[in-house]
Amino acid sequence: MTDYPDYIISLLGEELPEFHGSVSPPIFATSNFFYSSSDDMQKALENESTTPFYSRGVNPTLALLSKKMAALEHTEQALIFSSGSAAIAAGIMAQVGQGDHIVCIEKPYSWTKYLLSEYLPRFGVSHTFVKGIEASEYESATQENTRLYILESPNSWTFEMQDVAAIAKLARKKGIKTLIDNSYNSPLHFTPADYGIDLVAHSATKYISGHSDVVAGILCCSQEDYDLIFRQEFMAIGSVASPFSAWLLLRGLRTLSLRMEKSAAQGKALYEFLKAHPAVAEVYYPGHHNDRQKELSDHYLKGISGMLSFTLVEQDPTKIRRFVDNLELFRLACSWGGYESLAFPAIVLPTSANYQKAPFPPNMIRISPGVEEIDLLKRDLDHAFDKIKN
Ligand SMILES: *Cc1c(COP(=O)(O)O)cnc(C)c1O
Repeated sequence: MTDYPDYIISLLGEELPEFHGSVSPPIFATSNFFYSSSDDMQKALENESTTPFYSRGVNPTLALLSKKMAALEHTEQALIFSSGSAAIAAGIMAQVGQGDHIVCIEKPYSWTKYLLSEYLPRFGVSHTFVKGIEASEYESATQENTRLYILESPNSWTFEMQDVAAIAKLARKKGIKTLIDNSYNSPLHFTPADYGIDLVAHSATKYISGHSDVVAGILCCSQEDYDLIFRQEFMAIGSVASPFSAWLLLRGLRTLSLRMEKSAAQGKALYEFLKAHPAVAEVYYPGHHNDRQKELSDHYLKGISGMLSFTLVEQDPTKIRRFVDNLELFRLACSWGGYESLAFPAIVLPTSANYQKAPFPPNMIRISPGVEEIDLLKRDLDHAFDKIKN
């Protein structure tokens, strides 16, 4: 299906003498590093962004993950954070100051939305949300003080695709930076840097971990952006991942290609199943909604990941709850990209807090298929559909 690069499971970055040939790379559980002379110590400090000195900066286990992620995303560098939100926030905050403006797609990840709508205005940073399928929408929203375009192609609830290359080209022309949340695609299905995107963010909590057992984030970028962000947000705010989290992600990368292939197959099968189901009103899946969306997903994505959403024909809240409460294999949880199947019903989203106010209808359900047999997953959904039959 996809030409998965084999260096995910190869030895890239692992042949260090200090690893002693260990087949699985070691976890450097140390907060800092010692030197045999003040000269050496001084040199290490001068090169704190590339040399192990203090583990909030560079730690060999995290450095190995950085190397692999940068290779996968076709960027020069990668920074590892304690969460996807930390990676996104650092990437955004590094690009703006008081009086600056950001253009962002209208339905980004909820905490990205919070950062823009509630947090950054405190520091005089404004924003405009745009549907953002085409570059022209970014262009119309651009002001003299616009410094950053934020993308998510597709986003993680309704899966609209954007014309990433055209948006990146427009940004470059105007001297505006671009940041994309690539969590849904993983680097195996889409490498935005190839299309001119500057900063590629991941919630590594999802597909890169693949086992719902770690919260972490990654920001892939040029050496120049790395140097800037390392010096500012990375060291000063300090939301660094632990060596153990980084090690779990290294382990996740070893099976990423297998898992993404399975995820894509499961998602495709469920998409076909739900699309044809009489109890389903609408399905949300990259490329589904119209010819333009199909064109964009065919053009940009090497594979379509497994997560998707659908709305029930049923609108009655009691029945929506009955449907989701009757799912057994799909367990009710908020995350995605793990080994187990999860369902996130929009009906549980808060309606009061502005930043998370659901832009999604209560009859919408997002599902992340795990590795279970596809017939069992379909049967699970059918069983729940039966429970709300009139
Ligand atoms: C989960 C998620 C994030 C945030 O990542 P955390 O690791 O939870 O901080 C960002 N973007 C998307 C699309 C996500 O699903």
